[in-house]
Amino acid sequence: MATHRTKMLIIGSGPAGYSAAIYGARAMMEPIVVQGLQPGGQLTITTDVENYPGFADVIQGPWLMEQMQKQAEHVGTKMMWDTIVDVDIAGGSPFRAVGDSGDEYIGDVLVIATGAQAKWLGAPGEQELGGKGVSACATCDGFFYRGKKVAVIGGGNTAVEEALYLTNHSQDVTLIHRRDELRAEKILQERLLKHPNITVQWNKAVSSFEGDPMGAGLTHLALKDTVTGEESTLDVDGAFVAIGHAPATELFKGKLPMDDGGYLLVEPGTPMTSIPGVFACGDVMDHTYRQAVTAAGTGCMAALDAERFLATLDFAEQEAEAAE
Ligand SMILES: Cc1cc2nc3c(=O)[nH]c(=O)nc-3n(C[C@H](O)[C@H](O)[C@H](O)COP(=O)(O)OP(=O)(O)OC[C@H]3O[C@@H](n4cnc5c(N)ncnc54)[C@H](O)[C@@H]3O)c2cc1C
Repeated sequence: MATHRTKMLIIGSGPAGYSAAIYGARAMMEPIVVQGLQPGGQLTITTDVENYPGFADVIQGPWLMEQMQKQAEHVGTKMMWDTIVDVDIAGGSPFRAVGDSGDEYIGDVLVIATGAQAKWLGAPGEQELGGKGVSACATCDGFFYRGKKVAVIGGGNTAVEEALYLTNHSQDVTLIHRRDELRAEKILQERLLKHPNITVQWNKAVSSFEGDPMGAGLTHLALKDTVTGEESTLDVDGAFVAIGHAPATELFKGKLPMDDGGYLLVEPGTPMTSIPGVFACGDVMDHTYRQAVTAAGTGCMAALDAERFLATLDFAEQEAEAAE
């Protein structure tokens, strides 16, 4: 078991963690990134990415994350294949974290970039057809379904917003909800129910996602009426599961303030948490935008603020030494 000491400790290796590392390394903070169970983050489970700036052609999510990792390493980041299981941050800088390996990580600043995971239904076919008709992000993948038939599964704000967003691309959007009323805000419900291109299938649950993962991808959904038990099918080219996201914040419960959904709270417009020197960036603090480019942007902000924090620490130490 080893102890790894750095100026900048980053937990998480998605676009937020890697971007913080790139900026941190170039500012001589010698970052260590603890990658977690999903090196590269959420984009490693998708295929086509068409909205990350800088690429004229469609690129692949795993390839993009490989490039970010290489770039971070190239400028001097150390990658650790480990998962943080405990953190000690209450006492202020330096912050201590313990990995699943038993290794200890100590950082003068701590950047939390542990992201979030889309919640899935767990129905047969959902995983196999992921990226081949089944998605959890309309903003990311809606464009691929221009002029096609799509369904959104869910009944909260996210589901209604995703259905409305998809009408920019499709004239045939079906919202599938397991109850007979929506949980979404009234104003969103009104917009949805009035929209000529959206149909709602009430009291329906998806029993399976059907299609050929090696061929045409998703072709239809098998549905079951939650009241009568009656079975039916719905032909669709794309299905968007919109039943919420779970931020990876278990580690920080009782240690950092969170909102009702478990997202870390930061000072508005900054990545600063309530503990000086602890920064949060990417999806772990953002339930609104949830995009690779916004995660990368807040990762950059976290590194810049980390640098400023370290400069004030250095200044305070120099002052203390001068006073001795
Ligand atoms: C299927 C799908 C398709 C998408 N398509 C697009 C798209 O086309 N364009 C787009 O802009 N966005 C897309 N997104 C959204 C985008 O992937 C996210 O917004 C982005 O990845 C968030 O980045 P992040 O760095 O905040 O976190 P994540 O990518 O979620 O990464 C979190 C990281 O934290 C690590 N971690 C978690 N817990 C620990 C721990 N205890 N110790 C150590 N490490 C830990 C994980 O291993 C992971 O590396 C898509 C998302 C999904 C699910």
